[in-house]
Amino acid sequence: MEDDETAAQCVILVDSDHSGVLTVNVQARKTISLSQDEVGDSIVQSQIQFCDVTKSYGQVAAVKELSLSVRNGEFLTILGPSGSGKTTVLMLLAGFIAPSSGDILIRGKSVAAVPSYRRDQGIVFQSYALFPHLTVRRNLEFPLEMRGMNATERGSRIDQMLDRVHLADLGCRLPSQLSGGQQQRVALARALIADPPILLLDEPLGALDRNLREQMQGEIKSLHKEFSSTTVCVTHDQEEALTLSDRIVVMCAGRIEQTDTPEALYDRPTTRFVANFLGEANILENPCFRLESDVLQPGGTVAMIRPERICITAATAPRQAEADRRQSVEGTVDDTIYAGSSRKYRVRIGSSVLTVREHVGSGQQIFRSGENVRLDWLRSDVRFVAP
Ligand code: ADP
Ligand code: MG
Repeated sequence: MEDDETAAQCVILVDSDHSGVLTVNVQARKTISLSQDEVGDSIVQSQIQFCDVTKSYGQVAAVKELSLSVRNGEFLTILGPSGSGKTTVLMLLAGFIAPSSGDILIRGKSVAAVPSYRRDQGIVFQSYALFPHLTVRRNLEFPLEMRGMNATERGSRIDQMLDRVHLADLGCRLPSQLSGGQQQRVALARALIADPPILLLDEPLGALDRNLREQMQGEIKSLHKEFSSTTVCVTHDQEEALTLSDRIVVMCAGRIEQTDTPEALYDRPTTRFVANFLGEANILENPCFRLESDVLQPGGTVAMIRPERICITAATAPRQAEADRRQSVEGTVDDTIYAGSSRKYRVRIGSSVLTVREHVGSGQQIFRSGENVRLDWLRSDVRFVAP
């Protein structure tokens, strides 16, 4: 079936450990485009499925018995500490490595026998992996050329894309003549220019400074809205995950700890690991006060409350409204840490220490080390997590 209408695609391989030394190895091949029947019904809700996937390297299982569905058009982020198996999940999906056991389905069909260059995915690597010897325009042209698009159409697609990512004036530069943020835009543009149904992002903003990262988060969000590619993003940055995602998968040591929407994960973590990894948490293992909660504590769990859910007042201040729904305890300030928009207190209550985070506002009372304070919180804000 290989004919003139053949769609060709490209695979870009980079050093997978992001060591900083960029080795780019391009394999461009002519391939047969998948028929509608082969790719299945495009309205299938679950576009990507991992079915009990394990990937082992000798004795080490980088990913263990992973089952996960990614919905059509969804922005799903895999969040976890370094070494938790995030990149491995992405590389399995991209087809750069094969599962040791289990299967991966795309639009309902196993891709076990589908090489990476036929998976029709745009990929952005942390190290960008731009072709260093090609101008920005030529970098963007590459995936279009590989798909056999004619020169006029390529030119207009590139113009549109450069405009879209605010790089219209930089098309003739080489990657080395661009800032980190600009290179990142080129990498995103190159991944999206052929309008792939699936976009994979590995730590896409890891190399950028904080301000630029925030700006690019907004950019990625609006590009996702526009292109509506099903996106799987890998990051160790909780803020990035919370900001960008429809759902987040939290991974630890090759396994999924919890999958949920950002709000649900933050508000109702099910394990201590998730509570601590996503934001700050007071884990009340054996509090020296009797903990009141609106729900009965499930067996084998520990109590948790977020620092920003705790109010701090002078010990002598009148009690809060709705006191009947709140628990209050008295303690002494150990430490006050100013962090710009918020202030963090560590407050000792007998042998327990609670962290309190208060949004900084004008006219607010500031408590110093040694002062007696009252902490109080809604009983409904107490959560229980697996230890
Ligand atoms: P993350 O992206 O979350 O930092 P990775 O998926 O890169 O984690 O790695 C998960 C685990 O698998 C780590 O312990 C890592 O050392 C191991 N690993 C990854 N790739 C290989 C490899 N090619 N050979 C041996 N071990 C590997
Ligand atoms: Mg990684």
